[in-house]
Amino acid sequence: KKIVIAVDGHSSCGKSTMAKSLARLLGYIYIDSGAMYRAVTLYSLRKGWIPNGQPDIKKVIEGLNDIRITFRWDNETEKNTTFLNGENIEEEIRKLEVSQNVSPISTIAEVRHEMVKQQRENGKNKGIVMDGRDIGTVVFPDAELKIFMTASPETRAQRRFLELKEKGLEVNFDDILANVKERDEIDSTRKVSPLKKADDALVLDNSNLTREQQLEWTLEKVKE
Ligand code: C5P
Repeated sequence: KKIVIAVDGHSSCGKSTMAKSLARLLGYIYIDSGAMYRAVTLYSLRKGWIPNGQPDIKKVIEGLNDIRITFRWDNETEKNTTFLNGENIEEEIRKLEVSQNVSPISTIAEVRHEMVKQQRENGKNKGIVMDGRDIGTVVFPDAELKIFMTASPETRAQRRFLELKEKGLEVNFDDILANVKERDEIDSTRKVSPLKKADDALVLDNSNLTREQQLEWTLEKVKE
C-alpha cells in the first residue's frame, strides 16, 4: 500500500537527501516544497520586489498569478529539477542570495496558501515523499508517516558549506551558519504555519548519524 511521507525539520538538516533516497527506494515521487518558496523568492528578486530584504508584499502576492512551478524527478539518479515558467532554476535557487530572502517571503500568508494548494495537488496520488517545514502539520496532517529531522546548527552549517563548495561556489562558513540560525528563528516564530513538530511525528536527530543509518531507521518505520 502506497502512503504519504512527510519529512519536516530545520534548514539544512538533510531532509532532502533522506527524502530523495526514500523516494527512490520505495519507487515514490519526491517533492521539494522548499524549492517552491525559493522559486517565488527568485522571481521576486529578479523583479526587484525585495529591496533591502523587505518584500513588497502586495507585488509578490499579485505576482503569484504569473508563476508556474514544476518539477522533474528522476528516480534513478535521485535528481530533482525545479522549473519556473519552464526555465530550469535548480542551481540558482540554491544560492545564498535566495536563501537569505526566502524566509521573509515564506511568512506571507497568501504565498503559503497558494503553495499549500499546489502541494496538496501533488499529493493526490499516494506514493509521495515531501519535505519542508509544515508538511506534517498543515499540508498533509493525515500523512501515514511523519518524520521530524533535526541536528545542531553547526552540524547543519558544516554540511551546507561542504555541499556548496563541492558545487564550486564561493562560500564562507560564518555566513552560512548565520543564515541557518536566522532561518531557524524566522521559520519557527512566524505567525502562519510556523516550523514545529507535528504531535504524531517521529523525531530523528541526525547530528551523529550517517546517511545510511538514517535511511535504515526510516525504512524500519515505513515497514511498521
Ligand atoms: O527546505 P529549504 O531550506 O529549501 O526551504 C527554504 C525556505 O523555505 C525555508 O527556510 C522556509 O522559510 C521556507 N519553507 C517553508 N515551508 C516549507 C518549506 C520551506 O516555509 N514547507
